[in-house]
Amino acid sequence: MTITYDPKHPMYLDEADTRHELERVYDLCHGCRLCFKFCPSFPTLFSYIDVHDDQDAGKMTPAQQDHVIDECFQCKLCYINCPYTPNQHEWALDFPRLMLRADAMRRENGQMSLRNKLTTAVMGRTDAIGKVATSMGVVTDVVMGAKPGSLIRKVVEKTAGISSVRLLPPFARSRFSTWFKNRPKTTLLNRQAKVAVFPTCLVEYQDPGIGQDLIKVYERNGIECSLAGEAACCGAPFLHSGDVDTFTKIAKKNVKMLADEVRAGNEIVVPQPTCGYVLKKDYVDYVGGADATLVAENTYDAAEYLIRLHKTEGKSLDLNFTGEIPETITYHTPCHLRAQNIGLKSRDLMKLTGAKIKLVQQCSGIDGMWGLRAENAHLSIPIAEKLGQMINDAEGDVVTGDCHLANTAINEQTGKQAFHPLQVVARAYGIQPEEQK
Ligand code: SF4
Ligand code: SF4
Repeated sequence: MTITYDPKHPMYLDEADTRHELERVYDLCHGCRLCFKFCPSFPTLFSYIDVHDDQDAGKMTPAQQDHVIDECFQCKLCYINCPYTPNQHEWALDFPRLMLRADAMRRENGQMSLRNKLTTAVMGRTDAIGKVATSMGVVTDVVMGAKPGSLIRKVVEKTAGISSVRLLPPFARSRFSTWFKNRPKTTLLNRQAKVAVFPTCLVEYQDPGIGQDLIKVYERNGIECSLAGEAACCGAPFLHSGDVDTFTKIAKKNVKMLADEVRAGNEIVVPQPTCGYVLKKDYVDYVGGADATLVAENTYDAAEYLIRLHKTEGKSLDLNFTGEIPETITYHTPCHLRAQNIGLKSRDLMKLTGAKIKLVQQCSGIDGMWGLRAENAHLSIPIAEKLGQMINDAEGDVVTGDCHLANTAINEQTGKQAFHPLQVVARAYGIQPEEQK
């Protein structure tokens, strides 16, 4: 049995070795039980071991092991919670990364269903889908914008495995990068820094308004912005589905492009939590080398970057908020921002406007594609319902969250639109949203 989270390790994809490692970790988690509340994986795991008088994790069948893996949606909350992780304990336990290894092993050994692979192939190709969807307005509205439960969505579920009952984030009519290239030139009065924005496919194709507000807020604060290469997906959908080869191909291309940006004097800014996590952590594991480390060390979440600048000697943010400031803001903290271990920078940023912040720390159960897959809807929806209830209970004047997919789940459950924190800051500056063409 090899304890490894390194995808390049010769035993990484070995089935017997991975299953022994699953047995070791399942046994430790069963004894610990600290993570029972985060997701369905842990209760399922405990139930399979508890039925045996001797509570031996070694008695779990491969199918039972796989059931636990299938219910993990990579929120990383168990990793944050765990006192036995590689850098702090000899058990060297990294549950989410073991689930990634197990998924990759199953894919390598032909144990992933065709349907699962098809859904990954359809939903994972975010750039290809995004380019088509943003250029085919009416067709996109009919197919992708069809109401949950409608006949079209049922056909999409049957063919592509995307749940027919979940609300999907709609596509924009025009891409963020198109807006960025065509906007009037701006002159910075108080130049403080220089960044390259990695827009992520969610901002590029689905909510360009987030990117537009980011650029305007940054430029107001003297931060020169450029686009990081060609707008591209970070590859997370493939990583989280066990398709290590496709992920690594995407990751290598992005690492090269982003490292060049850093060498050109730019820091990298990412407005979506999952993608930021992938650039900071996963590229180091799956690509490795000096360039991946350079990218990781120079990548920031969008709010993290602003707060860091504000705290840098001789630099500061413009605190002249003359626009609309809500009295109270409900702020949902996405799991993948918590996993970045950077503190609550979006909360700190919105606090600067003078608004009172009400925190909601509850997973949305979407985590990339997991919650949108038809086979996971019955597990994911109750998690999203809990989040919706907490958002309603908080009763903030405005609802915010950094993750566009979690925000879509909030909209699905409450009917309320949730905004990215930078959009609230933009409104507080008096910057109005642009009409999305
Ligand atoms: S990463 Fe999240 S979903 Fe996966 S096992 Fe840990 S807590 Fe559960
Ligand atoms: S992941 Fe760590 S903290 Fe969570 S149940 Fe397992 S051993 Fe305990």
